[in-house]
Amino acid sequence: MATQGNIPVWRPMPASPPPGPGDAGPVPIVIVGAGPVGLAMALDLGRRGHRVVVLNRLDFIPAGSKAICFSKRSLDIFDRLGVGDAITDKGVVWNVGKVFRRDAADPLYQFDMLPVKGQKRPGFVNIQQYHVEEYLWRAVAALPNVDIRWGHDVTGVLPDDDGVSLTVAAGQGTYGLRAGWLIACDGNRSSVRSLLGLDFDGRVFEDHFLIADIRMAGDRPAERWFWFDPPFNPGQSALLHRQPDDVWRLDFQLGWNIDREKALDPANVRRLVSAMLGDGVDYELVWTSLYTFQCRRMRRFLHGRVVFAGDSAHLVSPFGARGCNGGLADIDNLGWKLDLVLRGLAGPGLLDSYNHEAIITADENILNSSRSTDFLTPKSAVSTLFRDAVLDLAGHCAFARPMVNSGRLSMPVSYPDGPLNSADRDGWDGGVPPGSPTLDAALDDGWLLDRLGGGFVLMAAGWEGPLPDGVRLLPVDADSAAGRRYGMVPGSACLFRPDQYVAGRWRRPDPAAIAAAHRKATGFPT
Ligand SMILES: Cc1cc2nc3c(=O)[nH]c(=O)nc-3n(C[C@H](O)[C@H](O)[C@H](O)COP(=O)(O)OP(=O)(O)OC[C@H]3O[C@@H](n4cnc5c(N)ncnc54)[C@H](O)[C@@H]3O)c2cc1C
Repeated sequence: MATQGNIPVWRPMPASPPPGPGDAGPVPIVIVGAGPVGLAMALDLGRRGHRVVVLNRLDFIPAGSKAICFSKRSLDIFDRLGVGDAITDKGVVWNVGKVFRRDAADPLYQFDMLPVKGQKRPGFVNIQQYHVEEYLWRAVAALPNVDIRWGHDVTGVLPDDDGVSLTVAAGQGTYGLRAGWLIACDGNRSSVRSLLGLDFDGRVFEDHFLIADIRMAGDRPAERWFWFDPPFNPGQSALLHRQPDDVWRLDFQLGWNIDREKALDPANVRRLVSAMLGDGVDYELVWTSLYTFQCRRMRRFLHGRVVFAGDSAHLVSPFGARGCNGGLADIDNLGWKLDLVLRGLAGPGLLDSYNHEAIITADENILNSSRSTDFLTPKSAVSTLFRDAVLDLAGHCAFARPMVNSGRLSMPVSYPDGPLNSADRDGWDGGVPPGSPTLDAALDDGWLLDRLGGGFVLMAAGWEGPLPDGVRLLPVDADSAAGRRYGMVPGSACLFRPDQYVAGRWRRPDPAAIAAAHRKATGFPT
């Protein structure tokens, strides 16, 4: 595989010459970083009609060992952005994960990532991050109002009350650019974060993991397989995932005190891979890398006219697939809010609610990621004793199995006390309460989430009162799959936000209550 400065190149990008004199902005929105999060952000805001400039230091889409597991919630977001079919069709669909211990052929524990059936998308799709970036880029490139500049490196950031002045290095020179809003999606070593001297607190974990992406034919099942203390990697853990194009991801825990060069020696990698797969299995090494990880986040994601999203704002371990999926949750939350602010339709608190909700999501991801890591690598003799006791018990007792933590996989996060929720008063039984992500359901003519799209929607069972401007009505039968999933009765209604979260629900809706809930969900005091 071709490389540039040790980074493998998936696809070189069209050169973007520096803009001419007199083209220094102002641009309403500048996004720094065309990784998956920056591209998805550009696609969201571009589809809402905003003029966006995206600046990316690299002039290619990188390959290498990064994200492969994309959650159902991310697929729902991709659907809303118009790239869900391409990504799902290319990807390997899976729902089942199995956890093995030592040399036992039967799993110690197994789980299903789609416990609620009857939804359009599966629990997970495995697909290489570079394919996702390419699909997002193709969709963004089709929008005339989005200008992606490959090979443009942000080297200076000066925010003030009305916007941000940037210095950008491109080709042999530099140029200035003025932005109304700056969205920093520039990854874990964020230049914007450093240039502004902002914090990034958390834990660094002392462990190394070796990734071997290999190409091998065969019909092993599309499931996540995880081993504790397998004979091919004694005392450590290992993970196996299927990807498209006959590529498989093998991930071996190695411990902290290792010789990194030796660990990456192809002979060592082949020894581990062959031991995992068994004798006589043909494969080709596609890419190998070592990773360590940290769980950290910024104290705030919103700093005046500068907003952070994705790895620039928060970092987790790859176990649980919460990095990229967490970043996509950020842009899902931010896109509609910034859209309303730019169109003058939001109250002053709306972007603060991004800060509030995205931090709740990041904290839940960090908590789960840290717990998984502590289970995989106990930090004391007592923790090791507890971990091994759970693994021993799980062999015989069903109650202990869910305690086995091989990486709790990414799920959407709820905000039960979120600032945009309206009170849940009318004695609902079950269903999906305010502050929760929407559950998909089959409709007569398609899927609920497709019908919700990216605006405010009132799903109502036989109620037809007047609606505030900007809210669309979706009539459903209380007895349909969607009506039952939301616990609706005839005459009831649920209000959905543009990111497909529930904002409010009423057994006996009235226009004033719906208008107040809409006002609250758009950041206006009620
Ligand atoms: C081994 C491994 C496995 C993983 N597996 C998963 C998984 O299965 N699922 C999952 O959800 N996550 C996974 N992750 C995490 C995932 O890869 C990251 O969360 C994801 O890349 C974050 O995307 P991003 O767009 O925020 O940042 P990045 O992908 O880092 O993109 C940042 C972009 O900003 C650009 N940039 C940086 N500085 C500048 C600058 N000064 N000016 C202009 N541009 C700049 C860079 O060129 C880059 O293109 C994994 C990570 C690793 C390491």
